[in-house]
Parts: sequence; C-alpha cells; structure tokens
Amino acid sequence: MSVQVVAAKMAEVELKDVSTGKALSVESPVTPPSEDKTVARNEPHEAGSSAATSLTAEPSAKAGEGSRGLLTPNAAKMPQASALKHSDPQQNGGEAFVNRDGTVAEAPRMKKIQFADQKQEFNKRPSKIGRRSLSRSISQSSTDSYSSAASYTDSSDDETSPRDKQQKNSKGNGDFCIKNIKQADFGRREIEIAEQEMPALMALRKRAQGEKPLAGAKVVGCTHITAQTAVLMETLSALGAQCRWAACNIYSTQNEVAAALAEGGFSVFAWKGESEDDFWWCIDRCVNVEGWQPNMILDDGGDLTHWIYKKYPNMFKKIKGIVEESVTGVHRLYQLSKAGKLCVPAMNVNDSVTKQKFDNLYCCRESILDGLKRTTDVMFGGKQVVVCGYGEVGKGCCAALKAMGSIVYVTEIDPICALQACMDGFRLVKLSEVIRQVDIVITCTGNKNVVVRDHLDRMKNSCIVCNMGHSNTEIDVASLRTPELTWERVRSQVDHVIWPDGKRVVLLAEGRLLNLSCSTVPTFVLSITATTQALALIELYNAPEGRYKQDVYLLPKKMDEYVASLHLLTFDAHLTELTDEQAKYLGLNKNGPFKPNYYRY
Ligand code: NAD
Repeated sequence: MSVQVVAAKMAEVELKDVSTGKALSVESPVTPPSEDKTVARNEPHEAGSSAATSLTAEPSAKAGEGSRGLLTPNAAKMPQASALKHSDPQQNGGEAFVNRDGTVAEAPRMKKIQFADQKQEFNKRPSKIGRRSLSRSISQSSTDSYSSAASYTDSSDDETSPRDKQQKNSKGNGDFCIKNIKQADFGRREIEIAEQEMPALMALRKRAQGEKPLAGAKVVGCTHITAQTAVLMETLSALGAQCRWAACNIYSTQNEVAAALAEGGFSVFAWKGESEDDFWWCIDRCVNVEGWQPNMILDDGGDLTHWIYKKYPNMFKKIKGIVEESVTGVHRLYQLSKAGKLCVPAMNVNDSVTKQKFDNLYCCRESILDGLKRTTDVMFGGKQVVVCGYGEVGKGCCAALKAMGSIVYVTEIDPICALQACMDGFRLVKLSEVIRQVDIVITCTGNKNVVVRDHLDRMKNSCIVCNMGHSNTEIDVASLRTPELTWERVRSQVDHVIWPDGKRVVLLAEGRLLNLSCSTVPTFVLSITATTQALALIELYNAPEGRYKQDVYLLPKKMDEYVASLHLLTFDAHLTELTDEQAKYLGLNKNGPFKPNYYRY
C-alpha cells in the first residue's frame, strides 16, 4: 500500500481531538482537482539539476472533499518521497570522516571497531570497571547527540550489568536486555505523558483504523530510547510493524521507558551508561537473531547501518530501505552512494524542513535556559552572555536569553548570519573582545576549538561555559586537563575548574551538549521529527519496485507540509485555503506544495 493510499484511507476518518474526542474543525486546503501535477511556481527545471522536481502527486480520489473539518490532506497531499536528490553536502570525497554536525574528523572512528573478532569480544567481556572505561573511547555519534536525556529513575546504584541478568517480562518473554524490567510502570507513565505532546503520531494510529500500512515490516531501529521514541515504536507497531531496537547513544536511554517497551513485548536492547562493548553488543542482538531478519532500518547516526554493512551484508537483500535522521548518518549514506556501495534506497530525514527548522531552533530555544538553570541556578536578567554561532541553534539560544533580560553578544564567521544577528538586535563581537566581561559563554557552531585555553584563561571568576552544538569539540576541554588547574565536581555534570589564583570557571557537561546532558527537550518538537520518520518508513516500505533506486532521497515538501498540518491541530490553527483564482495566479496546486524547493523558510 503506498503512502498515498494510506493517507487517503486516513483522510476518510474524521479527525477528532485525542483528548476531548471532539471533531476538530481546522480548515484545510481542498482536495485538489485532477490537475494535480502542477509544479510549484518558480521550481527550477534546469536539465540535470538535482533540484528539478519529479513530484508525482496523485490526483485526489474525491475531488473537492475535505475542505471542512479535515485538516488531513487527502491522497494528493501524501506524495511519494521526492525523486529529488539532495546534493551531497560533503565536498571532501576522501577518507576524512564527517561528524553529525558537518565537521570533518581526522580519524574515522569506525576503524576502531574490530568487526572480525566481535563475537569473541562478546565472549570475553570486560569486567565492570573495564566496561566503564571503554565508554570513554566510544564513538562520538553515540555519545554526542541530542534528545531528551532525562531519566525518571536512575538505577546507577544497581551495579550488575544487564548483560549478566536473566530478565523476563510478565508474559515470560525474555527477548530483550534492559536495566530493570520492574521499572516498566514508571516507564509507561512517561510514555503516556509523551503521547499527549505527540499528536501527529497518535493521529496516524487513529487514522489507520485497522489498516496496517507496515504489515510485514520488520524494522530494526537505533535511536535514543526515550519516551518519545517509545511513542514512535508503538505507532509503528500499531501500523503493523515488528520492531527490534537498540540505543544510538550510550547515555540517553531512559531505563524505565526501555522497561515499559520490554514489558509491552518489544525487543529492546539498551540501558543508560552502556560501555562501547555493550553498545555494539546491543546493536548486534537486534539484528543477529534466528528466524527474524529486518527489512527496514531506522537509524540515527548510521552506526546500525554500518554494523549491518560490515557484519551482515547479505541482509541487504531483504532490506527495502533505510531512514536516517542525523547529519552524520546522512553523510555516511552519501559517501556510500558516491562510492556506489549503497545497495538500498535511503531517506534523508535530517534535511527535511520539518526537522531542521524545528528541532534545531525551537528545541534549543526551549531547552537552553532549562539546562543552565538546573545546573547552576543562575539568574539570567542582566547577565552578559556570548553565543558563538548564529545558525538555527544560536538563534534559539539568543532568543530565549534575550527574553529573560540577558545582554546577548553573538560571534559569527558568516556575514549573512552575522547581519541577521545585528538586525535581531544583538551585538556582533569577536569572542576575545568580550571574554573578560561575560558571565556565560555558549557555543553552537558545529565547529571545533571555538573556545580555547586562551579564552578560558581570560574569563572572569564564575564564568559559565557550555556547548549546545552537536559534538564536544567546540570547547577545548582537553586544554584544561593540566597540572596547574584543579577540577572539582560540584554537582552532576558541573565541574569547577580552578586556576592557581583561585579563579573558577564553571564547565557544564564537560563540553558536551548541554541540553542532552542536563535538561529535557520538548516532546512536541521531537514529535515532528518522529512523524517524518514514520512517514518515510511507510513510503519506502510500500513503494513499488523501481520507484526508488539505490540512492539517498529527500522527503518531498508535500510530506513536510503534511507533517506540519498534523501538528497544527494542537493549536486549533485555522489554515487559509487558496481560492481557485489565487492558486492559478501563484501557479500552485491548492493542496501544495506551497513553496518551491529552494525556499528557505
Ligand atoms: P548552523 O550551521 O545553522 O549554525 C552554525 C553557525 O555557526 C553557522 O552560522 C556558522 O557560520 C557559525 N560558525 C561556524 N564556525 C564558527 C566560529 N568559529 N565562530 C562563530 N561562528 C561560527 O547549525 P545549527 O543548526 O545551528 O546547529 C549547530 C550545532 O548544533 C550543530 O552541531 C548541530 O548538530 C547541533 N544541534 C544541536 C541541537 C541541540 O538540541 N542542542 C539541536 C540541533 C542541532
């Protein structure tokens, strides 16, 4: 069943408010008449241009229907994933490894893993201490990522490794490995709370109404295991998929959520504080199982995809597609594609408008203050803050701090973003100009060595230093590990680094992502990304042979618009409908897409 058909089925069901049960009355664009192949005005069509669209939105089954009471687009609003190929953002085709944030690391971390001996490694697993120390060297993408890191129950006091425990859920199923199955009830509550803020996934479940667009799908996933992911997994399951899941990050698993999933029958292999060895063991347990072979991959960071490529390449014969969320994973897919080694179609969710323009901006605008407050109890009013980088993340941080009455400075290398900062009312400075006076330094550039030892030496007493960018390379934390400086752990994730004269710098999360490490991130934003992932899976799984080749695809704008529409319901938003005359004037289909592909939002 194609995604269009699924959408059409869903559209036939009147959408009701999940909590009140009342019908929602959000105006929607009318179902398009059959001239639906209209391409957005100004769409570039240069021969061979990667931006040339071949959107093939199907004509509506019931033209004119759905203009009232249904926000859900009909068939024509759920296009197949675009044949638009995203141009490879990686300029450098060499051996260099690209981090999720786009920075290029010199040593490809995957080379550290000894695939051939992996089985043996599992058998001679290290001691508890050994495992912990291994985690220090784990790959960057599995340690630095962003998602809700909050864990309701921290069972770090239980020292037994989950791998050494025999656990079964209440139905006697033991096909999982988590911290503690007894935490399942707490986890269920977390999941129920998340459901309230994930309206689109809940709507997808409702609209499917017994239809199983993922019937037969065997999805192996590697993402943060949080309440939000649980809502996604349970949605996939409601749509017919079987799921096996591992964590893409050794710290971000919410143990109680993993327990709830295991109790619900999901094969989950993850716990908070895995070692590197545990990390790969969990991934392996997801795929290396008798009588079960995945046919879809949902990855965040590319580790799972990489593992299957290295260890079980034959599995790709049955795999219909890969859905990848992260910058790093997407870069890897483009590299594989470039090298002619990508053997299945892949969807790049990272570059969807509904991911980039929401996750990065709104997630950080909502979580920067939380992360700072929880760790330091700092008052923001009147404080001088410098934010390095005025991209989406920087814009979010600056907006939140400004609203709290902070005096905000911005550093930038790009004159366009710099001009935006100026016109938004921020002082553009060089870091060295303000470093002596600021109270808080925040990096969000995706770059390396933005704050170096010289800056740290010149900071004033009690200056708070933290990073909101993806990787822990932005602040040169290693330069602080010298004999003359004393480190004092004052709280979880808070270190005072003390200079010989008594000056203290407050370093948060050892330079790792502040919001991942020290706060939660808003579920609603994650809902947008998760819905995009679910639709990408449905589309790839149901696509007829030949629709997608062995390449990396972007989701079409119409699908982004559909995801946004589903989330508008939360706000009781009333979308204006184009009149026929207006649609003709703009050269648009009344059901979208409403913008050309190069539109930047
Ligand atoms: P972006 O590319 O939009 O913005 C980064 C900005 O930093 C750019 O404008 C760039 O010109 C600027 N920059 C680069 N080097 C600089 C330097 N030395 N000094 C000053 N400015 C510099 O990227 P983004 O979407 O804002 O993401 C930034 C980072 O945050 C990435 O690593 C991304 O993966 C990460 N991220 C974090 C979260 C989170 O929840 N914390 C969410 C999304 C993305």
